[in-house]
Order: sequence, then structure tokens, then C-alpha cells
Amino acid sequence: HGFHTRCNFEPAYWDKYKKVNRVFARNLLEETAEDDYIWVHDYHLMCVAQELKQFGGQRRIGFFLHIPFPGPETFLRLPWRRQILSALLDFELVGFQTHEDMENFVACLKSLCAEFHRDNSDSLITVTCGAKTVKAGCFPISIDFDEFSDQAATKEVSKRTAKLNLLHPDQQIILGVDRLDYTKGIPERLEALRCALNRFPDLRGKIALLQVLVPSREEVQEYQELKKHIERLVGQINGQFTEPGWIPIHYLYRSLAKEELVSFYLASEMALITPLWDGMNLVAKEFCACNYRENGVLILSEFAGAASQLHQDAILVNPYDVIGVAEAIRRGFYMHMSERKTRMKRLREQIKTYDIHFWLNSFLEAAFEGRAKICPYEGIGTYLSKIDHL
Ligand code: UDP
Repeated sequence: HGFHTRCNFEPAYWDKYKKVNRVFARNLLEETAEDDYIWVHDYHLMCVAQELKQFGGQRRIGFFLHIPFPGPETFLRLPWRRQILSALLDFELVGFQTHEDMENFVACLKSLCAEFHRDNSDSLITVTCGAKTVKAGCFPISIDFDEFSDQAATKEVSKRTAKLNLLHPDQQIILGVDRLDYTKGIPERLEALRCALNRFPDLRGKIALLQVLVPSREEVQEYQELKKHIERLVGQINGQFTEPGWIPIHYLYRSLAKEELVSFYLASEMALITPLWDGMNLVAKEFCACNYRENGVLILSEFAGAASQLHQDAILVNPYDVIGVAEAIRRGFYMHMSERKTRMKRLREQIKTYDIHFWLNSFLEAAFEGRAKICPYEGIGTYLSKIDHL
């Protein structure tokens, strides 16, 4: 995710990584037939196609990367950069969440490949490096829109939502749902809330952040420290601002059942989604899918992959800009119902059209027919120049 100071290039990790990929490849060979199509997912398994070939396995095989692909300034620091790129070239098709990710991959190949050729002649690109050729495409992942939307409209969810709203009379609930991870920008978000409550006293008593943190990688020391840091901030902010009858942050550290999660989505007037970098961010799409009442405001980080599709109707923020996020919270709070409706309607239409089924079909069509259905998007360079131009 571009945080190269966090990289730890331990040779033993690489050996273990290769070994795990080999185990997967060997098992795939045993479990599949020659005419099966294998679709490999995510960064853990980038060497599976190469390992399969080394076992002599003939399989059609594609790959989808769920996280961002770093630019050359980060990727080229990797001691095993050639091995990783060479392994990715052994897939037939490599899919990315955004065009930036795809272009980063191509830029890394270009900088390491003596005989590089790129062909853009159809909706997929074809990259040739010496004797190897791979197709690459952009396939932004999504959600089952109808499933979320339908569940939000059930009686059970409606009951839960009403209860939650009763507990927050005359308040707008701002929802945060994240795995506990440093890429999610949670301390920055809490600082932005603190800043909003300091700068805009009119918001005190009127907004409540409902922050769900889903436990993740609890055995890793950095994650334990991040948890402590977040909990210290929550304590400080609640200590500073709580008044009888109002607490600014409701903090939950656990995984939610789907019905509870959907009722949180439906009960919230705003979603505050501020990752520092994120492959896509499905929570942003799920919030909109559940908001069939069309009264919600989506505040979204410019650095979430979802911004390439949702930038027109979300309030975009730079998650590092604490004052900017605080202002976005205030703007969301005062946004008129008619504007909320217009924006949320368009967000929901977008997500319904380009849902998980579209994603699945477009990848498989690309794999089998060599062309991709185009999903409308804009790169960060384009949408930022519209909202934050010099
Ligand atoms: N989620 C969940 N349990 C929870 C909270 C969230 O299963 O208690 C799900 C949520 O519905 C979403 C996923 O976790 O589908 C998070 O995906 P996202 O792309 O936002 O972030 P990631 O964790 O993959 O980085």
C-alpha cells in the first residue's frame, strides 16, 4: 500500500512464500483436470502459475489482485521484484482493481524488461516481455447489491434500525467499519472528528461516530500497538467532549453478524470511509446498497479504489488532511435532503449496475473471449483535477 518504511525484506519470508505457492500448485494439479480454468486470488499466491508450470501442469489460469499494485518507486525496492514479475507473466490474464494499479504493474515491467512491448488495441492490454506475454485488465470488484438492499428492507433490520435511531434522537450517526489495519486511516479519522468537534461547536451533541473495528492479525505486534493507539484516542476524545446524554464515539471491537451490520448501515446518516490507501473498499458500496431511503452521505477517501467509480456523488476527502475531513463532516451534516437523495440515487444506480455479477462476468469474458466489458471509471489524476484544481 505504498508504505515502504513498513517493508521487512527478510529472505526467509520469501523462501516461505515460494514454498506455500508450491504447495498450492501441487494440490491444484492433483485436484483439477487439464480443461479446468483456475482463477487465483490475491497477493499471497502470485507464483502459483509459475509453480504449476514447473510441475509440468498445463492449465488455463488467471489472477486477480485485490490490493493496490505499487508504483515502481515502491515495488523496485523489493529484492525479489524480478521473480514476482516473471511469475505474474506466467498467468494468461492478470486483473486489477483500478487503472492506476494496472499501469503501475506495466510501469514496473517496463523498467525491468529489456524487450518490452505493449499493445492497447482492445479493452485489455497485452504486454510482452521477451518470450512471455500476458493480458492485463481493470475489473473493479463489487458487492451483491440486491442482497444488501433486500436485507436492509426486511422487518428484522428495520426493527434494529429503529431501536438504534431511538437511542440517538436528534443526532446524525456517522459510521466507520474497518478491519483493524494501518491502511484504514483510523487514527487520522479520529483526529479529524476531534478537529470537527473543536472547530464546529454546533456539531457537539448532534453527531455520533459509530466505529466498528473488526479484529485482524491480532498476533502481530504492530497491530496490537495500533489498537492501543486507537483506544487511547477514543478515550481522549470521549473524555474531552462527552456530556450527560451524549457520547461522541461509540467504539465496538468485534466482528458483526450480517444483520447487525446491515442495520448499522441503514441507521447511519453518514459513512466516514477514510483509508490511506485501499484496493477498493466494499464497505463504501455496502453502505450505499443498504441506504434505500436515500438519506445517507458517503464521505470517501480519494485513495480508496472505490473513488474511481463513486467520486462524483461521494464527498471526496484526503484522509491526511484532518481539517479537510472535519469540514467534510460538517458539510455532510448540513447537506439538504434533496441533495442527499440525488447523490445517493446515483451512487446506488452505479453500484447496482456494476455489481459483483458484472465483475465476475467481465473477468471471465476477458479470460475466455479476450475482451473486457468496460466499467466506467476515472483515474485519480482526472477526478482530483476536477475538485481540487490549481
Ligand atoms: N465485514 C464483516 N464483518 C464485520 C464488518 C465488516 O464481514 O463485522 C465485511 C464487510 O461487509 C465487507 C468486508 O468485511 O464486505 C470489508 O471489505 P473492505 O473491502 O471494505 O475492506 P478489507 O477488509 O477487504 O480491506
